[in-house]
Amino acid sequence: MIESGGCTYSGLCFLGQNMGKSGMMCENIGNRKQGKNMNENITKRNRLLAQKVIKGLQSRNMGGYYAETKEEALELALSMIPEESTVTMGGGMSVHEIGLSNALKDGNYKFIDRDRMEDKRAAMLLAYDADVFLASTNAITEDGILINIDGNANRVSALAQGPKKVLLIVGMNKVCIDVDAAMKRARNVAAPINAQRFGLSTPCTKLGTCMNCKSPDTICCQFLITRYSKHPGRIHVILVNDTLGF
Ligand code: SF4
Repeated sequence: MIESGGCTYSGLCFLGQNMGKSGMMCENIGNRKQGKNMNENITKRNRLLAQKVIKGLQSRNMGGYYAETKEEALELALSMIPEESTVTMGGGMSVHEIGLSNALKDGNYKFIDRDRMEDKRAAMLLAYDADVFLASTNAITEDGILINIDGNANRVSALAQGPKKVLLIVGMNKVCIDVDAAMKRARNVAAPINAQRFGLSTPCTKLGTCMNCKSPDTICCQFLITRYSKHPGRIHVILVNDTLGF
């Protein structure tokens, strides 16, 4: 029995194709090889593009970093958060997905878990005085501009002002060519999925796309374009060569 790229076969593969002695590669293996090459191409492209985004961030007084994997991103993020820091979060599936929130809860940090606090206003106010604020971004342009949309505005306000350090975990799936494309991504991809996530009664949860609503449930209340950071060393972005968040 031979195992190749997850495909297990012995003479006759499970798709019923003769593997045999002809020396011809089965279509399944061909496709898998092509898939592997495709993944490598995406990885390579992301690695190169990340360098452009990092330069863009640096030109805007923000720190840019690259992690090849979620594990690398976790290690890098933890190296940037001193022990005993007060840490808080503004949502951010990507932060959860790399395992950072759990690592902080288990570690020697003062982690403010707003999901466990009954007084949501108090939790939001605590964020402004935190040492480190964690989040992602709805989109980022190739030249390092951050685009974010928010309902309650706790995330965009803390990104703009308050916490001493802001650390954003961003999958390469969120990189867009320019502000226009990034805004479209934030409005037509991120916001409708977030509205679904929170079970809101908005047109996008029924139609899957933004209808520019003024529904009482809308989460598209505040739009933040972070073009430049006035405070050096405050905003840091870890780009991860993976699909994170939405
Ligand atoms: S404006 Fe309304 S319809 Fe559009 S994404 Fe936001 S909540 Fe959904």
